[in-house]
Amino acid sequence: MAKAPSTRTQHDLVIAGGGPAGMMAGLLFARAGVPTLVLEKHGDFLRDFRGDTVHPSTLELIDELGFLDEFLKRPHDEIDSLTARVANERIQLADLTHLPVKCRFVALMPQWDFLDFLAEKAKLYPAFTLAMNSEAVDLIAEGGRIGGVRLADGGEARARKLVIAADGRSSVLREKAGLPLQDLGAPIDVFWFRLPKGASDYNETGGTFGAGTFIVQLNRGDYWQCAYVVPKGAADEVRARGIAAFREDVARAVPDLADVTPTLESWDQVKLLSVSLDRLIQWSRPGLLAIGDAAHAMSPVGGVGINLAVQDAVAAANILAGPMARGEDVDPLLAKVQDRRQLPVKLVQGVQKIVHDRILTPLVVRKAVLDKVPLPLRLFKLFPILRRIPARIVGLGFRREHIRSPEAVLHPSPSGEGPGVGDVVRSSSSPTGPTPTPPLKGRG
Ligand SMILES: Cc1cc2nc3c(=O)[nH]c(=O)nc-3n(C[C@H](O)[C@H](O)[C@H](O)COP(=O)(O)OP(=O)(O)OC[C@H]3O[C@@H](n4cnc5c(N)ncnc54)[C@H](O)[C@@H]3O)c2cc1C
Repeated sequence: MAKAPSTRTQHDLVIAGGGPAGMMAGLLFARAGVPTLVLEKHGDFLRDFRGDTVHPSTLELIDELGFLDEFLKRPHDEIDSLTARVANERIQLADLTHLPVKCRFVALMPQWDFLDFLAEKAKLYPAFTLAMNSEAVDLIAEGGRIGGVRLADGGEARARKLVIAADGRSSVLREKAGLPLQDLGAPIDVFWFRLPKGASDYNETGGTFGAGTFIVQLNRGDYWQCAYVVPKGAADEVRARGIAAFREDVARAVPDLADVTPTLESWDQVKLLSVSLDRLIQWSRPGLLAIGDAAHAMSPVGGVGINLAVQDAVAAANILAGPMARGEDVDPLLAKVQDRRQLPVKLVQGVQKIVHDRILTPLVVRKAVLDKVPLPLRLFKLFPILRRIPARIVGLGFRREHIRSPEAVLHPSPSGEGPGVGDVVRSSSSPTGPTPTPPLKGRG
C-alpha cells in the first residue's frame, strides 16, 4: 500500500535542508523556543561528499553555545597551517596560530559527525523537529506570501511565520521563488577521493601546483582526502582516458603519492563535485528567506563555505528568532539578514573569483607550467607575518557573528534528572556577547 503523504501544520518555521546552514538555524530557532521543523531530503547525513572543515569561528560559536569540550571529544584532526607546494618548494601560506580566538586551528571532522552533533543538541529543545527523507519540491504561496512547502511525497509542511531555504547550491526553493541570481561563473570542477598515507613523511594540509594540475591534500590522520581540480566540463574526457591514466596523472603531479595511487582501482572511488559560484541579488520575499549556499553558492577555494553557511544561520537567528518567539511578524525584518551578511559573502566570493581567474584558470584550464615560485607566493616566505592574512580570511572570515539569539531555558525535570521535556521558559543571551576564554591548541 502506498504511504500516505505527510502533512505538517504545527510549525512557525520550516527549514528546507539539513546541511550546516539548516541544522545550525534549526538549533538556534528551537533554542529560542520557536516551533521549528527541519526537512532533510536524505535519510542520513552520510553522503559521498560533505566538506569536513569546522573553522575557528564556528568552533567559537560552539563554545558560545557551551558545547565545545563535548564537541572536541569527537574524533577529529586539527590543522593550524596551510602549505603550498610549487616547483619543488614548500611555502606556508596561512598560519592560524595567531588568531584571536580560543581554537587556533581548523577541526577536520566528517561533516555527518558535525551535523549529527548539531541534531543531537537541537533535539534537547522540545521546539525542534527533524524530518529525514523529506524533500521540499515547491513553495506554497498564499495571500501574497510563502506559507509553506510542498513535499516530494505529495504532502506539505506549513510554516506560520517563515520558510528558510537552506537547500544548498542547487536550491529548488530559490528557483521556485524566482529570486534573482547573479552567476559569477566557475571554471573548475573537482574529483574527490581518498588515498592512504604512504611512505612519505610529508603530512601538511595544502595544495600542490604541478604542470597544468592542482591537487589539494587534507591530512586526515591515516589517509589523505584529495581534491583533483579539472576544467569545468572536462570530467568525461578524464574518465574516458581510464582510471590507470588518472592514477598516473595524480602520481606525476604529486610524486609523494605515487606509492599509494594503485589503491585507486575504479571510478567508484572518485566522486565528481560540481563547483558553482553565484549569489542571489535578493535573499528573501515575504515568508521566505534563503541562507547558506542557497543564497550564495561557494567555491571550495579556501574551504570556507561551511563557515559562511553557519554564520548566515547565526545572523538569521540573531535578527529573527527573538521577534518570532514573541509571535511577531518577521517579514519586515527579512531584508536585514541580507544586509548583515551580503558584504562578507561578496568579499569572500571576490577572493575566490580572483583565485579562479588568476591562478586556477591559467594553471588548470590553460595548462600553465610553474617552474619557479611566483613572486606573490615568495613574499609569504620572505615575510612570514603575511601568513596571518589568509589565516584570518580562512579561519574567521569577515564580519564574524556571535550568538545573540534568545535561549529558551529548559526546566529541570520534576525528578531533578536533566531537562524537562516540553517545558520552556525564555531568557535572553547576554547583550554584551560571549565571555572571552583562553586559547586552546593542539588538542585532539
Ligand atoms: C568540491 C567542493 C568542496 C568543498 N569543500 C569545502 C570545504 O572543505 N570546507 C568548506 O567550508 N566548504 C567547502 N565547500 C563549500 C561547502 O560545501 C558549502 O558552502 C556548504 O556545504 C554550504 O552549506 P549549506 O548548508 O548551505 O548547504 P549544503 O551543505 O549543500 O546542505 C544542503 C542540505 O539540504 C539538503 N537538501 C537539498 N535539497 C533539498 C530539498 N529540496 N529538500 C530538503 N532537503 C534538501 C541536502 O541533502 C543537504 O543536506 C566545498 C564545495 C565544493 C563544491
